Amino acid sequence: MKTAKILEVFRSIQGEGRYVGLPQVFVRLFECNMHCVWCDTPHSIGDGKREYQEISAEALLAQVDALYDGAHSVSITGGEPLLQDEFLKGFCHALKKSKKKIYLDTNGTLPAALKKIIKDVDVIAMDIKLPSSTKDRAYWNEHKEFLKIARRNEVFIKMVVSVDTDAHEVMKAGKLVASIDPKILFILQPNWLDMKKGVIENCVAYQQQLSGILKDVRIIPQTHKMMKLR
Ligand code: SF4
Repeated sequence: MKTAKILEVFRSIQGEGRYVGLPQVFVRLFECNMHCVWCDTPHSIGDGKREYQEISAEALLAQVDALYDGAHSVSITGGEPLLQDEFLKGFCHALKKSKKKIYLDTNGTLPAALKKIIKDVDVIAMDIKLPSSTKDRAYWNEHKEFLKIARRNEVFIKMVVSVDTDAHEVMKAGKLVASIDPKILFILQPNWLDMKKGVIENCVAYQQQLSGILKDVRIIPQTHKMMKLR
């Protein structure tokens, strides 16, 4: 089997999204195709502060096995894990064979890579990245294609809201999701760094606006930061 660039494997509590509070084994893959200004895992995008390890699927499976007992699922995260899709194809299949649930945390920009592994993935936590908040380019087409594939399985949306977030982009994201399925859960995630700068009030206003076109819009902050967990 192939090897992957892995930053860390650890057990913790899921701090974001629909499954907040549940125990998971986290597998953090190295590198990302984006550069969000508020990235909270800068070591995963190659800031040079931490080295990755090349690990085989067999060795990684053994590490996950040692931590998994009683966990809800294995969170495949990054960086952007789908950059290593060829490795994930075999690794996710092996996880499924050992009866583990797979939770994929992704920036939702690599639809072709998702297609390769979706049959083995149970839950997809998909980000929608707004250019006004990430200061990166827009990914509207990629997000739309990605969501069309992701909805074959369980998927929910997470969208980071910062004080710089543009209200028009928020509605554009909401319409994109509604055009595919208005019942998909849409989570507004206030940027941790902006908590004291009015971002919650903005989220409340966005929730009200989005609720006109989507059935389930929630505001959930990054609770692992509050608990000082990774
Ligand atoms: S997509 Fe995620 S890992 Fe990549 S730069 Fe943005 S926040 Fe960081």
